[in-house]
Amino acid sequence: MAPPHVALFPCSGIGHLIPFLRLAATVAARGCTVTVIALHPTVSAAESDQLSHFFDLYPHIKCIQFQPLPFKKSKLFNEDPFFMQVEAISNSVHILDPILSTLSPPLSAIISDLSVATSICRIASSKSISTYVLITTSARFFSLMALLPKLALRESGGIQEKAQLELPGLGLVPVSSIPPPMLDSNHFFSTVISSNIPCLSNVKGILMNTFTGLESESILALNSGRIIPDLAPVLALGPFEPFEVERRAPVGPRSILPTAPTLQWLDEQAPESVLFISFGSRTALSRDQTLQLRDGIEKSGCKFLWILKSNKVDKDDKEDVQSILGESFLERTRKQGVAIKGWVNQDRILAHPAIGGFISHCGWNSVTEAVRLGVPILAWPQHGDQKFNAAVVESTGLGLWAKDWGWGGEKLVAGDDIAAKISEMMLGKDLRARVKAVKEIARQAREIGGTSEGFLSLLVQELKLQE
Ligand code: UDP
Ligand code: UDP
Ligand code: UDP
Repeated sequence: MAPPHVALFPCSGIGHLIPFLRLAATVAARGCTVTVIALHPTVSAAESDQLSHFFDLYPHIKCIQFQPLPFKKSKLFNEDPFFMQVEAISNSVHILDPILSTLSPPLSAIISDLSVATSICRIASSKSISTYVLITTSARFFSLMALLPKLALRESGGIQEKAQLELPGLGLVPVSSIPPPMLDSNHFFSTVISSNIPCLSNVKGILMNTFTGLESESILALNSGRIIPDLAPVLALGPFEPFEVERRAPVGPRSILPTAPTLQWLDEQAPESVLFISFGSRTALSRDQTLQLRDGIEKSGCKFLWILKSNKVDKDDKEDVQSILGESFLERTRKQGVAIKGWVNQDRILAHPAIGGFISHCGWNSVTEAVRLGVPILAWPQHGDQKFNAAVVESTGLGLWAKDWGWGGEKLVAGDDIAAKISEMMLGKDLRARVKAVKEIARQAREIGGTSEGFLSLLVQELKLQE
């Protein structure tokens, strides 16, 4: 019997691309023929680098390049380059219709991003191809998205004025945790969610990079129909493994950081002594906030490895570290730590024994990597799903979250407050013990007999039956 052929269709942004590539490598390793529908051109250099690196590693995984049609701006509020590409993709999905029919062997299933799920589902069902959706955020934030069409948040009257909402499956949710674009029905983001949630009753399954040991209540609420009565089954497959794992060289100079001296420095540090600071691939703090963070890091006296970003899109991020942080800071902290710009292999840094804490914006990939690798988090959510993800971190005892720091740009958090939180996290013995325990639960979930492994076997069995 020929293996089933599965296509994966990630959307814009590395936070979507990485989990799709990780899942692609996973199902390929389980004997499926895999095609990745890859955006071309990508918004960020990181995405195109990641894609070429992936196809070099996995020459047997096929690539179809997908070039969205020229973008006609709609009336919806949307000024984010990544979201603009999502809008262009949504307007171009029909191009895939004839392409999907010509693939050989014929496709048995397609795994789509949520932002184009309705269109993909329509095309796929006309060809008897099954559709799955891969959700790239937490089960908790996904639950909120799933509730959005029903809530019609804005229309239901003065939600912004309320302090909290009682939501099925989520309990009491502070309104301040809901991303403001979701409260605006004219925002592109709201319309994307509302137009793609209804099709989730027709898809074959909803795949998630989470696990029952991390988000049991949300997964249960989704699967028991408390959020949407006829929702397709949620398969919690996480935490995903990095796709390059087979080729993983031992951590060492040149393998993860741009300069050998930087990595050598990390190798020389005591176990669990270094704070890693990164706000993901598309979040730049304001200049003032960056300087307060700089002061906080210095005052904490903690060893640090800081990945700096001063622009949302990496191609436009040209200012150097010296001009942002100042020579005198770099000189004073020469022994304390390292600040660099550019792409690093975050998963491998988090795996380094010297890393003892992570200041993170709580992008869901970053959270699941820290959980898988047992690194405590100081959550500093900036926008989007990040406060919901931070709530998962806090409620499971995997980190600290200073809620009064607000959304990114809402207020200027003082260096002294940052220093205090850094020390609290780095010195928290109970926190570290809890994080280690959850790391072990995550490991067991992926072993034979574990929950995530069980869901994955189920998925692969289903794919094989559809063949
Ligand atoms: N990442 C990385 N190196 C970097 C920046 C990011 O490897 O320099 C990876 C990170 O490990 C994660 C992803 O890019 O897998 C970022 O996704 P996340 O959901 O954490 O945040 P986003 O960038 O989407 O805000
Ligand atoms: N790379 C990059 N941007 C990315 C992903 C990778 O520039 O988004 C580069 C990275 O700097 C390295 C190569 O691609 O030169 C391989 O990347 P990765 O760090 O993922 O794996 P490694 O080189 O550590 O095996
Ligand atoms: N998001 C949002 N408002 C924003 C930015 C993002 O509600 O201003 C949503 C976004 O659509 C996604 C989640 O929050 O579902 C994370 O978005 P982001 O692009 O920041 O991270 P990524 O999806 O790349 O991990």
